[in-house]
Amino acid sequence: MREYIDCIDAGTEFCPCHLAESNECILCSQLHGSKFCDCLNWNGVCIYHEFINNNSKAKKGRDTYTCKVIKKELLEENLLLIKFLVPHKLAVDLSKAGSYVFVRTNENIYFDVPISILEVDIERDIIAIIIEIRGIKTKKLLEIEENGDITIRAPYWNGVFGIRNINKQFNNNVLVIAKGIGMAPMVPIIRKLFLNKNTINLILDKAPYKENYIKEYLKEYDYNLIEEVVLVQGELTEEAKALIKKFIKNEGVKYIHIAGADILTVKIIEYLDEIGAKDVSLSCCNNSKMCCGEGICGSCTVRFAGRRVKRLCKLQTDPRNVFEGRRLI
Ligand SMILES: Cc1cc2nc3c(=O)[nH]c(=O)nc-3n(C[C@H](O)[C@H](O)[C@H](O)COP(=O)(O)OP(=O)(O)OC[C@H]3O[C@@H](n4cnc5c(N)ncnc54)[C@H](O)[C@@H]3O)c2cc1C
Ligand code: SF4
Repeated sequence: MREYIDCIDAGTEFCPCHLAESNECILCSQLHGSKFCDCLNWNGVCIYHEFINNNSKAKKGRDTYTCKVIKKELLEENLLLIKFLVPHKLAVDLSKAGSYVFVRTNENIYFDVPISILEVDIERDIIAIIIEIRGIKTKKLLEIEENGDITIRAPYWNGVFGIRNINKQFNNNVLVIAKGIGMAPMVPIIRKLFLNKNTINLILDKAPYKENYIKEYLKEYDYNLIEEVVLVQGELTEEAKALIKKFIKNEGVKYIHIAGADILTVKIIEYLDEIGAKDVSLSCCNNSKMCCGEGICGSCTVRFAGRRVKRLCKLQTDPRNVFEGRRLI
């Protein structure tokens, strides 16, 4: 069976992009060096036609916005909440599940850091983000001041793999498993699942944080909360395994969203295989290293068998296709 592949930017105002100019388009066979029309996924727009109509040039890329910070709060020593005002169109663009922005931390754009959207208030055009302070780039964000400015490059949308699986959930019993900073990008997914009338079971491991800081962002949605430690020393806990098994075998769960580090996703995929639940569909955080976000810089590229390279900042696919069959040399 042909692997499900999509490009997150296909058919948007940013498509065709620079990949098309150099015959590297993710979807269009003709913009990938072939003479035949055999696109991998039809999005209602002919990318080749758009490219020719645009004088065989890429469309203009994302803009940079300097926005006013209306709230800055250090939730814990290494956890920062920032709220800022954006133009209305950008607020609307960032309301899709999986949206993120690059936050500028230095005049050198290579220092931009990808951060997911926690919440968008479309009425007031306010964006909320939560940042785990880790290294060079995120430490600089501590210098941002209330009533001062924050500079972002946006909108970007590929913060989650398996968006197709999220969109397919209607009136289902679904499971969300979140750990640590994964809590923040999980909020728009819960919103989407709630709006699609799903029954949401949320297993939340707030470690290494002391509190569940996203509680107030979830107050409008119904969900069953189970607070549990899910991962210890890189292994799923017995409690997490028992809960996953119970939801799949006894409660008919056929879809799981995983919001945490890659190790959490990998361990859950392995466990699902172990209990014969390969048919459970998945979505998860995209934790790739990213720099340009446009498929060019190469930070996010991963090699797979058959000399295939996947540009994970743009490529949309099922989580299993991201974590299985990777080549390390
Ligand atoms: C789409 C996306 C959304 C994200 N959303 C959030 C969020 O909402 N909140 C949040 O706190 N963090 C988020 N991250 C992770 C965040 O971008 C990294 O933690 C950050 O880049 C670390 O940079 P640093 O210089 O502070 O730390 P470094 O010292 O560079 O690294 C610390 C850790 O971060 C990882 N890392 C470094 N650079 C990157 C990079 N460019 N992309 C991804 N991981 C990197 C390293 O592997 C290391 O584990 C997101 C990452 C991506 C790709
Ligand atoms: S790679 Fe994506 S954004 Fe670029 S031209 Fe192809 S479909 Fe469009």
